[in-house]
Amino acid sequence: MASYALVFAVVLIGVAALFRQRLDSVQTNEVRDTLGQEWAAMKGYLQIERIPDTGKYAASWYYDKEDPDETTIVLDIKKTYVITDADGNIVLNATTKEQELSTEYEDIGIDPAYIRATVRAALADNKPRFRERRDSSGERYLMRSGIVYAVGKYDKGHGPPFYVSLGAPLGPNQRVLREFTLVYLGIIPVALILGSVVGWVMAGRALTPVLEVAQAAQRISGSNLSLRIPTRRAGDELDYLILTFNRMIERLEASFQQMKQFSTDVSHELRTPITAIRGQLEVALFTAQTTEQYREAMFNALQDIDRLSQIVRALLLLSQAESGQLALQKSRLDLCAAARDLVDQFQIPAEEAGVRLTADLPEHCFALADRVQIDRLITNLLSNAIKFTPTGGQVRLSVQEGDGEVKIIVADTGQGIPTESLPHIFDRFYRVPGSGAATAPEQGLGLGLSFVAWIVKAHKGTIDVSSTPGEGTQFTVKLPASGVGADTMESVVQVAGLRAGA
Ligand code: ADP
Repeated sequence: MASYALVFAVVLIGVAALFRQRLDSVQTNEVRDTLGQEWAAMKGYLQIERIPDTGKYAASWYYDKEDPDETTIVLDIKKTYVITDADGNIVLNATTKEQELSTEYEDIGIDPAYIRATVRAALADNKPRFRERRDSSGERYLMRSGIVYAVGKYDKGHGPPFYVSLGAPLGPNQRVLREFTLVYLGIIPVALILGSVVGWVMAGRALTPVLEVAQAAQRISGSNLSLRIPTRRAGDELDYLILTFNRMIERLEASFQQMKQFSTDVSHELRTPITAIRGQLEVALFTAQTTEQYREAMFNALQDIDRLSQIVRALLLLSQAESGQLALQKSRLDLCAAARDLVDQFQIPAEEAGVRLTADLPEHCFALADRVQIDRLITNLLSNAIKFTPTGGQVRLSVQEGDGEVKIIVADTGQGIPTESLPHIFDRFYRVPGSGAATAPEQGLGLGLSFVAWIVKAHKGTIDVSSTPGEGTQFTVKLPASGVGADTMESVVQVAGLRAGA
């Protein structure tokens, strides 16, 4: 603040000094112009002539004394003036015999040495000379001097040179300058105080939101991520900064939330098989008597351990995908050939489930894709469709090409998905409540569709689902056709998981 005031004061004083100097030179120039005009007029009205038979010269003023304009001009000229010969002797008036020297000039004083030098110089270059002088009271005058040649009936050509000096007081100018300085000196402290206060308020206004941002940032911790900084609705850079900051916190909050949810889900999912294993082992230890009972307990425990390791494997894949270690191996892949192979493989499980599995595939269709992940994607969709379609139903896998993309459609005539569950089916560990999957958790981990979503995203594709409960479900995956698409995997990965048997 102090440095701001100091800079402001220096600027104010600097501006004042500059302005004062400018004012001074403008005014002095004006006085010079006036003196120039007076000089020209003087040459018209003044004649220095030799007094017959004396060898002496006297000055005569020729002007119309009846004409008020001419009279004023001559009186103005004669306010501050002197006429001398080249040695500095004052010339007399031809009529009045008085010295051609005004009282004001008398007060300033004549300087014969200067007169001689001026006459010499003027004879050489005939240029006007200006200098500043002061009278006895210190009043400043600007003097213009030069030579005027004597003329007359008694001389041939022109006579000897005479020194003429006209002056004009700079006093009025000085007064203006003094007033300016006084006013400005009065204004400076006021302007300084006002400027400092306004600057203080403005700086405070500009800095308050910045401080708020800083304070809000300090308040934010892992447990307080819902905090937002209010924008000022000014639409300026600061609002943009606040908005960006808020968005950053939002993303942080979302990923914190995701992590929390994830660990809750994981511990819940792990607890179920662990409790089951514990139960089986307790049965074996405390109640089983026959070898058969022991074997059954062991068998059940093994099954649960299998499920546990599936979950762990899926989670490992998930963390790999999240940290970007699961890079896609993309190549020009014939999706139709891959789909045909998978439909063949799924014929047996479909038959076992009493579901008719058909395919509608062109001969070839190419996309830039990772074979392993595409197999996993189709496998997950097909096994879901078969799993959630009751005996007698149908599952159809079709692939269509066009508009620079390849569509993979898996449609079934199964139980469908309730509308309220649709937004969640891609969430980790989500199983539609009341569905076969939820009541028989060993049928699935609830991770398959999350992984499907990740594969689609990593291929820069999209996935849509439409479903009518009781009638069936259709998943449509769109992938960029061969040659289009990203080579790197998205860093924001939803989830990666493996389905049982995939
Ligand atoms: P899961 O391992 O349980 O199959 P998914 O993530 O693959 O996990 O699917 C999530 C849930 O979405 C399933 O549990 C099921 O409730 C529902 N779902 C998925 N596909 C279908 C389908 N074709 N028909 C009906 N419900 C489905």
